[in-house]
Amino acid sequence: MRILVTGGAGFIGSHLCERLVGAGHEVLCLDNFYTGSRLNIAPLLAHPRFELIRHDVIEPILLEVERIYHLACPASPVHYQANPIKTIKTSVLGTLNMLGLAKRVRARLLLASTSEVYGDPLVHPQHEEYWGHVNPIGVRSCYDESKRLAETLTMDYHRQNGVDTRIIRIFNTYGPRMSEHDGRVVSNLIVQALQGDALSVYGNGEQTRSFCYVSDLVEGMVGLMESDYTSPVNLGNPGEYTINELADLVRQLINPGLPIVYRPLPSDDPRQRRPDISLARRLLGWQPQVELREGLLLTAEDFARRLGRGVRPSLI
Ligand code: NAD
Ligand code: UDP
Ligand code: UDP
Repeated sequence: MRILVTGGAGFIGSHLCERLVGAGHEVLCLDNFYTGSRLNIAPLLAHPRFELIRHDVIEPILLEVERIYHLACPASPVHYQANPIKTIKTSVLGTLNMLGLAKRVRARLLLASTSEVYGDPLVHPQHEEYWGHVNPIGVRSCYDESKRLAETLTMDYHRQNGVDTRIIRIFNTYGPRMSEHDGRVVSNLIVQALQGDALSVYGNGEQTRSFCYVSDLVEGMVGLMESDYTSPVNLGNPGEYTINELADLVRQLINPGLPIVYRPLPSDDPRQRRPDISLARRLLGWQPQVELREGLLLTAEDFARRLGRGVRPSLI
């Protein structure tokens, strides 16, 4: 198949492009390099079934494809809050354009949505029927609310225009190729540990997240794209950790002597998050395979290489 991956030069997108090229598809990777990088897709650039298109999804584009994985959008709080209006345009206008494209060429479109649609959730763990608890006017709203609107647009193109759509709600995902300046907790802690700096924990560190290794997520994405289910599906790893536990694990794996420094909790930071993945299990027979400890080591090895530290994290 001919497949478009928007945001294909980003962290998740680059792994997805690799997976799809590996399966024999022709892949068009569309990216404006806002947070992505050519380095992420360097191994693919010479491949005859891979093509890079430098383009901003806010602008319309004419292409002929059969599948659209729509990932283009900054994902880390630091990046999406740097220019919130641009984030809203990317998420809303970008999704509108991709749905218009899908309608015109009768392509199937998968929207990369997020667990952030549940906001600071009052239901735990989060299942797909929960409508969420989202502040409409806070610093995270540009991301949360525009992803919610992207889901609404996707369902309306499906109902009104018969566009074949899929929606995944991605929970915190990590792995090789996360940007070292990304600001997300896994990349921050690993970079700090490799450099021998204190580990930064925001708030009292008792808030929780559930961390999914990127290869597990990509399998779930491809599985859902090729299923016939159109309502949103959670994809994530149900293992739930406090940020203190995560920092301890990173310390143990990379650099046991490091201190932790506590910094102020950013506003509207969700207190708890864990996916209920019963639906994905039932529909796709999918569940994550990579344990946090193993995934963190693989991620740390990649960071060590990129930072030129020559440090091989020790398996304790
Ligand atoms: P990322 O920042 O590494 O990737 C996003 C990619 O989109 C980058 O390559 C960036 O350059 C590109 N992009 C941004 N704005 C664009 C625009 N206007 N036009 C074209 N390209 C643009 O982030 P990621 O973690 O790979 O996230 C990918 C998708 O998954 C995003 O839609 C994000 O919301 C979603 N998601 C990720 C996570 C996670 O934990 N990583 C969790 C929930 C949802
Ligand atoms: N669009 C696009 N590529 C296409 C078809 C549409 O980028 O191949 C854009 C189009 O410019 C519009 C959006 O997608 O901004 C929605 O298109 P649709 O046809 O649904 O609506 P309309 O063009 O009637 O507003
Ligand atoms: N966090 C932290 N230290 C950091 C970066 C983030 O303690 O250096 C916290 C952050 O406040 C949040 C959690 O870790 O409670 C996950 O943050 P991230 O930005 O990775 O993702 P999100 O908040 O979008 O789930």
